[in-house]
Formats: sequence, structure tokens, C-alpha cells
Amino acid sequence: MLAKVHPDGVTLLKKAGEVEVALNLSEAEIMEKIPGCDAVIVRSKPKITKGVIDAGKTLTVIGRAGVGLDNIDVAYAESKKITVVNTPDASTESVAEHVFALLLSKARDIPRADHALREGKWIKKELRGTELKGKTLGVIGFGKIGSRLGEIAIAFGMNVLAYDVIDVSERAKEVGAEVTTMERVLEESDFITLHVPLLPSTCNLISEQEIRKMKSNAVLINTARGGVIDETALFGALTKKRIQACLDVFETEPPTESPLLTAENCVLTPHIAGSTEEAQRRAGIQIARKVIEALQ
Ligand code: NAD
Repeated sequence: MLAKVHPDGVTLLKKAGEVEVALNLSEAEIMEKIPGCDAVIVRSKPKITKGVIDAGKTLTVIGRAGVGLDNIDVAYAESKKITVVNTPDASTESVAEHVFALLLSKARDIPRADHALREGKWIKKELRGTELKGKTLGVIGFGKIGSRLGEIAIAFGMNVLAYDVIDVSERAKEVGAEVTTMERVLEESDFITLHVPLLPSTCNLISEQEIRKMKSNAVLINTARGGVIDETALFGALTKKRIQACLDVFETEPPTESPLLTAENCVLTPHIAGSTEEAQRRAGIQIARKVIEALQ
């Protein structure tokens, strides 16, 4: 196990076989450790590269406790007949709720209010917020998280516009969202939230051109993956106070060198959208069961 998994998942794995937990290893250290392992479990880190896969001579399963598979060379693993399993729905609720936490933080400027008050500043007059009811939420990627988020937004009285590359009309009807084009989502939304996987086709999906189409002061929320937004273009737009943003994910994590850390009109969290007790337990148990099943 190359990442921390919920203890309930570890207990299941230990009942099924021998488990070794080895955290914070470099690629070279993983390559040294992996020969002889039948399965390996990771989270969003570390990377399972071609080199690691080649070194895993007895490897038959790669388990990802979580959703995104962008840290695993899935195509290469599958070409070597190695099964890759993940827990696609374990964190859906947690991520959708975190998007709402970000959205409300931004709408009411809660982080700024909190900081100012602690510094002895009563900036009540500067903190006029905005209601969500009647505002438009644009959801790009209307899959598990995007559509669950749509349900929460509808409960808040928001209008929901959904864009996806596949037909999501049935799910949108259930939720009460309107399926439309990417263009309309960009142009008409007060809040735009991204829920697409990181793929070559979604890398820099939101760049200068897309930001230019957004309403002035629109809030762009990213809890998907850092690479989905062109961070240089976003930083430029934030600096010009063209739009606002809420980010849970970054091109490089942690983003220690990122100028985004200095942007004022931006609420930042350290990739915690899926980090709840419930989601982690679900992911731990599901990945243990899937790995055990794949090994049988
Ligand atoms: P999902 O597969 O259910 O939905 C993704 C949707 O995006 C699909 O409907 C797909 O058709 C659509 N899509 C793909 N390319 C698109 C494009 N170019 N334009 C518009 N839509 C496109 O996945 P999900 O469970 O909703 O998760 C979405 C992403 O959220 C994951 O891939 C992962 O990267 C991220 N995530 C982040 C955290 C976190 O802690 N921040 C936790 C879980 C998941």
C-alpha cells in the first residue's frame, strides 16, 4: 500500500493476505519495492508510471482509493493485462458539498471576514454579499459529482445549466437542470464549476478565451484537477479583477510557488474536497473489496 487508506479497508485487506504500508516513496524506491507484490494501492499520489509497472513483475492489480486515474498509466497497465480499479462514487457527496462550501464562502466573503475580524478590523460595510437564490450555476461535466451538485443548487433556488460531451439529458431532467452548450454556460453563469476528468481533451479546458466569455465577476470553481484550468490565464484574470475563483486543485500540489496564492479574489483549499471521514471510509472499504475480488 503506497498511500494511507482508511483502517477499515486495511483490516479487510489484512484478512485476505499480507499487507505492507510504504508511504512517501520516490519512483525509484517504489520500483525497488514492487517486485513480488501482487497488488498495489495508491490515492492521487504516488504516480504509477511505465517504469513502476515494468518493475512489478508479479503485479496483477492496481487499486486507486478515489476517482481520478491521472496518476496511473492505465493504458500501459492494461496492455500488460494488469487490472486497474478505483472507487468512482466514494467521494461524490463530499466533493459536491465542498463545492457548496466554497461557493457560499465566496458569495459571503467568509474567509476575508474571518481574517479581518481576527486582526481587529470590523469591515462590515465592505462585506456586502450576494444571495444564491435566482443565480445561475453552470456545471461543466454533468457526471456523478456535477449532477449531485446540480441537485443541491436546485434546492438553493439556483438555475442550473449543464454542459457535457455525452448525452446527460435524462439525468438533467431528474435534477431540474437545463442542458446547453459550453458557450452558454460560460456566458450566462454567475458561478461556473468544473467536474471533468483530466484528459488530453480537458487539459486547459478553461483558458484566456473561455474566461473572456464569462460574466464580469463570475466565480469559477475548480475541484476537478489543476490542469483543467490554464493557471497563468486565471491569475491574469484575477489580477485584473475580471472574475473570481475558488480552487481546491492545482497544476502542482502543493502550489508553493504559485502566484495564485497571492490572488485576493480567490478562495483556496488544499485538495480536500473528498477528505471527509465518510468518503475516506467508503473509499478504503470499496478499494479493499475490489482489489481482493480482482486477485481471486
Ligand atoms: P464522472 O465520470 O461521473 O463525470 C465526469 C463527466 O465529465 C462525464 O459525464 C464526462 O462525460 C464529462 N466530460 C468529459 N470530458 C468533458 C468535456 N471536455 N467537457 C464537458 N464534459 C466532459 O466523474 P465524477 O465522479 O463526477 O468526478 C469528476 C472529477 O472530479 C474526477 O475526474 C476527478 O478528477 C475530480 N475529483 C476531485 C476530487 C477532489 O478531492 N478535489 C475528488 C473526487 C473527484
